[in-house]
Amino acid sequence: MRGFDEDLLMIPGPTFVPDSTLRAMSRQMINHRGKKFGEMLTECTENLKKVFRTKNDLFILTCSGTGAMEAAISNIIEDGDKVLCPVYGKFSERFKLIVEAFGGKPIELSVEWGDIPQPELIEEALDREKNVKAVTITQNETSTGVRVPLEDISKIVKRHNALLVVDTISSMGGDYVPVDDLKIDLCVSGSQKCFSLPPGLAFISVSEEAWEVIRSTKRRAFYFSLPAYLESYKKNPPEQPYTPALTFYYALQNSLRLLLEEGLDNVISRHRKVAQATREAIKALELELFPKREENCSVTVTAVRIPNGVSDKDLREHMQKEYGILISGGQSKLKGKIFRIGHMGCVTDKEILTTIYALEQSLKKLGQSVEIGAGLEAAIKVFK
Ligand SMILES: *Cc1c(COP(=O)(O)O)cnc(C)c1O
Repeated sequence: MRGFDEDLLMIPGPTFVPDSTLRAMSRQMINHRGKKFGEMLTECTENLKKVFRTKNDLFILTCSGTGAMEAAISNIIEDGDKVLCPVYGKFSERFKLIVEAFGGKPIELSVEWGDIPQPELIEEALDREKNVKAVTITQNETSTGVRVPLEDISKIVKRHNALLVVDTISSMGGDYVPVDDLKIDLCVSGSQKCFSLPPGLAFISVSEEAWEVIRSTKRRAFYFSLPAYLESYKKNPPEQPYTPALTFYYALQNSLRLLLEEGLDNVISRHRKVAQATREAIKALELELFPKREENCSVTVTAVRIPNGVSDKDLREHMQKEYGILISGGQSKLKGKIFRIGHMGCVTDKEILTTIYALEQSLKKLGQSVEIGAGLEAAIKVFK
């Protein structure tokens, strides 16, 4: 007998949505240009600013995370504008592709997947290339499981008078990314990862420096034109330029209340603990973390090399069929080489310990010589 219809989602998004958020969505539509929506928009925006730790303008867009990445680039880029794009995974590569799509000139900085872009490399590139308009960074590279420390990179980018554009789609709301302290000019995130929401909304914060560039740039954006969002937000009551996905705003309002109720710092330490427990279990099972250095491991997703003698497909299928737990494989050139455990959003010791149990059992079943219980024991120690 099964108590839940769906498999446990231990993938890096979409994540499980709390029951109260699901219930919040089954509500009647309201006028999206009325007072009620204005109040909801204001509350959601103010609470998102708390999560982003910013006083900058912040907008909610009806699209997936990539839409917010496109909004960031398309508002600041004209033909031939140079953008420095370190590429160290699938999502950092996406920034480069978006720059190209909007007529900009990406300066690609290739970094080995599993590693992070070193600040010195970024500085060298900015010194070499003149007039770089922006630098793109994926703070949490979901495809390789690394997180990029931004303090030094930010100082270098600011010294070179470029805009710092950061993707926190799989980390904001789970990891500590203080937008104002880090002087991030355009920071984007999305709903279906750490916010424990359905896919469909994205967020973008815009600094004063970013506005200066936006005002002097001939834009290619229409649906994502940021000045249009600002103008609508200033109306009384505040609104959105085009019909917002109302149902998801009900969900967002609830999810932000849940986050703030738990306390942002508590949410972050919960993610850190779950991530550490996962890593300790992986090491105890004598598996290899994919990131080059453990200190660069993400707190929301753990990437692990597939051990010899098992296929990633068999492992994932076994975990799903026998235990009802979904984990992810590798993307693009990491397909078949790694598996990834997502631990973001409403994930606690309960879910991760169950996942580690299923992982141990599945590896054993598939012929690996794992010591049953070693991973669990190492993980439990972290929670004690
Ligand atoms: C998921 C993800 C994206 C893409 O978001 P979509 O919502 O699928 O458009 C971009 N960047 C990172 C780091 C992600 O994890």
